[in-house]
Amino acid sequence: MSLKMKNTLATTLLSSAVGLAATMGATTASAQTYVTIGTGGQTGVYYVVGQSICRLVNRGTKTHDIKCTAPSTGGSVANINAIREGQQDMGMAQSDWQYYATKGEKHDSFKAKGPFNDLRALFSVHPEPFTVIARADSGVEKFEDLAGKRVNLNNPGSGTRGTMELIMSEMGWDKGTFKLAAELKAAEQAQALCDNKLDVMLYSVGHPSGAIKEATTSCDSKLIPVEGPAIQKLIDSNDFYSKAVIPGGMYRGTDSDTATFGNAATMVTSAKVDNDTVYQVVKAVFDNFDRFKRLHPAFNNLNPQDMIKNGLSAPLHEGAVRYYKEKGWM
Ligand code: GLU
Repeated sequence: MSLKMKNTLATTLLSSAVGLAATMGATTASAQTYVTIGTGGQTGVYYVVGQSICRLVNRGTKTHDIKCTAPSTGGSVANINAIREGQQDMGMAQSDWQYYATKGEKHDSFKAKGPFNDLRALFSVHPEPFTVIARADSGVEKFEDLAGKRVNLNNPGSGTRGTMELIMSEMGWDKGTFKLAAELKAAEQAQALCDNKLDVMLYSVGHPSGAIKEATTSCDSKLIPVEGPAIQKLIDSNDFYSKAVIPGGMYRGTDSDTATFGNAATMVTSAKVDNDTVYQVVKAVFDNFDRFKRLHPAFNNLNPQDMIKNGLSAPLHEGAVRYYKEKGWM
């Protein structure tokens, strides 16, 4: 066989192999829809929500051909922006950042892009009290004491960071107020606190939270109340903030109730995600609601009628509305 013939034969074989692979690939791809749910850090509660929802969705892949993944992400603001860019289909977001995204307000990335008109709500989940944990030896007893301390503001893109910046601006604080303004991710801060690299960590999160358990059991630390005129002003001027209490005895080192304020964790998507996919995702959650509630203690008090209205400022997605109407919830 001449070299030329050999090459031609090889090319023919190769191209038919490629053709076959392409056909097989196309068949698989057209049969299956992939859904990505953005969460937060792996020691937070968003990660549990996303993983739990995907587990329920994936139990039905044989019937609806949807495959769900819920990777760890930077948190609320990062999720909303990734949905807007089409990099994620759905995601978890604090109710305050859901609202600000619809208005194009309060965060530089939201202001730059303007109102996110295609943002759609699915449902709210657990309450997220704004939680402050200080080392027992830091001298921090109340929120004002954070001034002059080593504080982790959290990573840009997290809802915790965003909300902390809103509080800071009400307090007349900036980064220079603190001895150290760290930008560690939520999952990194408990270790940094216990290694004495920080005095204070912050987390807008459902309770009980793995990260806060870690911080309060690995070293002596306690929850700090978040109160005062600046906080009261945020609550009074925004429906999505309310007073909140973290029960005493939930974490080592804090035996009495801790007063703070908070918002709701919500799940959002884009109007560009198709109705059938959204319908199947909400159906997987609410058809298996008792199973879902058992997956984290923060879900104990949830009930569907509240979840489909509380803390939602973006319009409900049409695919979700279809399911909620079928259930007679609206
Ligand atoms: N609320 C946090 C944020 O938006 C995440 C909380 C969690 O991961 O449970 O950054």
